[in-house]
Amino acid sequence: MTDGGPTLLEPGGTNAVGQMLGLLGDEWSLLILGHSSRGLTRYGEFREVMPISNSVLTHRLTRLTEHGLLERRIYRTNPLRAEYLPTARSRTLWPMMLAIWEWERSWTGPAGEALPLRRHEACGAEFAPLLTCRACGVPVEARDVRAAWGPSGGWERSVPASSTRRRPDSVPNSLQYPQTLEIFGNRWSSALIGAAFRGMVRFSQFETALGAPPTLIAERLRSFCALGVLETRQHAHHPGRPEYHLTDKGRAFFPITALSVQWAQKWFVSPEGPALVQTHTACGHDFVAHLACDQCRQPLVTGSITIVPVIEDRTTPEGTP
Ligand SMILES: [Zn+2]
Ligand SMILES: [Zn+2]
Repeated sequence: MTDGGPTLLEPGGTNAVGQMLGLLGDEWSLLILGHSSRGLTRYGEFREVMPISNSVLTHRLTRLTEHGLLERRIYRTNPLRAEYLPTARSRTLWPMMLAIWEWERSWTGPAGEALPLRRHEACGAEFAPLLTCRACGVPVEARDVRAAWGPSGGWERSVPASSTRRRPDSVPNSLQYPQTLEIFGNRWSSALIGAAFRGMVRFSQFETALGAPPTLIAERLRSFCALGVLETRQHAHHPGRPEYHLTDKGRAFFPITALSVQWAQKWFVSPEGPALVQTHTACGHDFVAHLACDQCRQPLVTGSITIVPVIEDRTTPEGTP
């Protein structure tokens, strides 16, 4: 439960990154939060838009409420009815959600291209969000940011305490943002892509760093290659020992990672200090991720973005003279 401020974590326990992966590295929770951000609040409304069972929906709503991402409010007492409202904590997820939309739109083919566009009200243009450094305003990619563990860092503390069961109530893959969920909607996958961004390329590195079962790491690496976010390369001096390198599509996932970590460290605070300290190497300042409009370069703020309705059958012959 939260009073609206950050959660103070136990000393020596799971850090902000681990907390975030435990909460958001769950397919159903991400979907529920996405619908919540679009205005849905009631149990029946969530049931209507997702093929989710009663038990799973109840569990996720309870969990998101316990962690301050939703606020449960009774709106009728006889019979008892509650609704689930977004909180400051969940409302600040919008930059990450926007980054997810952009990545899906750019990298997942026809499904992504069919997503509705966004308009920046300040300049009136349809836009894509651009990841920039708040200190200097320059666009930033993964290679421009140096990451180092902070006082509460380390891989052991950055993966969720509870081990994930093997997709017991997996989301049908036809739902929204399937590829993001493939990477982000599984806590080990998120940790793995984080390790890749930190320069790990070998199976043994991933295995040692994450402490996950080898079969699980092998399965995740295979699925990342199938998804096209990693590609295998043979080691020059050790043929037969493949390395796993990020592709352009994989590197383009960086804004989602950066914004989710930033969100985590805002809302979950370890007494020792941050889990991850990131520096924009070009300007030397701490890297604070900031989204700008790629058309006018102004910073994006909440409320300045509207969804452009999808026009059905743009090419239909009846629609043209
Ligand atoms: Zn900078
Ligand atoms: Zn703009």
